Amino acid sequence: MAHELPPLPYDKAALEPHIDATTMEIHHGRHHKAYVDNLNKAIAGTPLENKSLEALIGDLASVPDNIRGPVRNNGGGHWNHSFFWKLMAPKAGGAPTGKLADDIKAAFGSFADFQAKFEAAGLGRFGSGWAWLVSNGGKLEIVSTANQDNPLMGKAIAGCEGKPLLGVDVWEHAYYLKYQNKRADYLKAWWNVVNWAEVAKNY
Ligand code: MN
Repeated sequence: MAHELPPLPYDKAALEPHIDATTMEIHHGRHHKAYVDNLNKAIAGTPLENKSLEALIGDLASVPDNIRGPVRNNGGGHWNHSFFWKLMAPKAGGAPTGKLADDIKAAFGSFADFQAKFEAAGLGRFGSGWAWLVSNGGKLEIVSTANQDNPLMGKAIAGCEGKPLLGVDVWEHAYYLKYQNKRADYLKAWWNVVNWAEVAKNY
């Protein structure tokens, strides 16, 4: 069964004015689609065709040397973007509630402190990558990964580990059309579209 591009869970213009429709259209329809297509190409005709996406990126060590790079980049890209679209929603934003809110406060001091540390992780990622909120052995942590790496790949590959709860794409393709070089402005605006109900579901 080939991997498939999931549809956006909302209209491409639904996150305006924070994330513009053109960025969403190109990001989903071209960038994410390319990850899916290139993943399928990389594993075509191999037993890896029968593995789930999670199983693939969670066990890259078992992927043959000659296709490990493409599976890491494109499998990671497919997982990360499928996760990312659901983390955003129109008329979202605000702050988390319930246990997630309590645990964020306990781990980072306050929700504002958490936001500042998360933005710093995104800003501090040189080049392309992601910032994440993960649950690692029951502990909330903020980490970041390069390129399309992901905490599910494990520490040896991604440099961090844990179950992703929230993640933000800091590749230029995620923000350049509207924000140009101002990644900090994009990260600040992004809070307006974060779907905290989905983050709580991931927790
Ligand atoms: Mn992206």
